[in-house]
Amino acid sequence: MNPELVSRARGALLGLVAGNQLGVPTEHLGTPEAIRKAFPNGVWDLAPPPKNSPYDDDAAMTLLLGESLLECKGFDATDVSRRWVKWMKVDGRGIGLTTRRALTLIDRGKEPFEAGRLVRQENPQKSAGNGSVMRCVPIALRFRDDLDRLIRASTQQAAITHADERCTWGAAAVNLAVRELLLPVTRLGETGYVVHCVEIAFWFVTHDRTLEDALVYLAQAGGDTDTNAAVAGALLGARYGESALPPRWMDQLVGAQGIAQLGEDLVRSA
Ligand SMILES: [Mg+2]
Repeated sequence: MNPELVSRARGALLGLVAGNQLGVPTEHLGTPEAIRKAFPNGVWDLAPPPKNSPYDDDAAMTLLLGESLLECKGFDATDVSRRWVKWMKVDGRGIGLTTRRALTLIDRGKEPFEAGRLVRQENPQKSAGNGSVMRCVPIALRFRDDLDRLIRASTQQAAITHADERCTWGAAAVNLAVRELLLPVTRLGETGYVVHCVEIAFWFVTHDRTLEDALVYLAQAGGDTDTNAAVAGALLGARYGESALPPRWMDQLVGAQGIAQLGEDLVRSA
């Protein structure tokens, strides 16, 4: 197995758990000013967790989902729900209202997806919390080679507690980003496929390459070269600005100044 891939998979879970633990002490303070007041020297270290509660909800539910994926050899909503319910009853530190309500319904005998639907119906205004994206990453690691199952399992793990479409598709979006960050860019059989095109664009924006370097690479990487490079070029230009375009390309582009002006006019008219 590619050691770079292994390192990135390990890093994905470690980063999630570290970020969660680092942020717990400031979670309820609200503003940057309030946080500076409470922590005048800054927040640099992971505060030790309370006794008998090693993980806050974000990390706890993530790790339980990961363990379930391994032991069930895939995604099993009933098994995941059972683990989450058990954790809620013995610990439950940090659990959100939507998650608690859904897991309580499951504990009382509702089916997992039925519980998520009921909670959304009870309170549609408040059903789009971030509880489904905080814990979804193990799905990206487990199904990195199977895009359809990655998307399906990402949305299903969300729907157990957060059936709102912003939550289910938010989890799919996070896991697509993780998948693309784990892997090199060209895959057979995905030429012209929209999700792959979006993934490529995000990969290049998040990997320190210049706009020129990224687009030169994509034009020679095979697949749907012109569209992949176009979408990536838009994101890179949005991140780095017009000075990222090499002067020779500005000369070679038909109507470069008019195109730039159109961009300026659009953002000014917003
Ligand atoms: Mg939390």
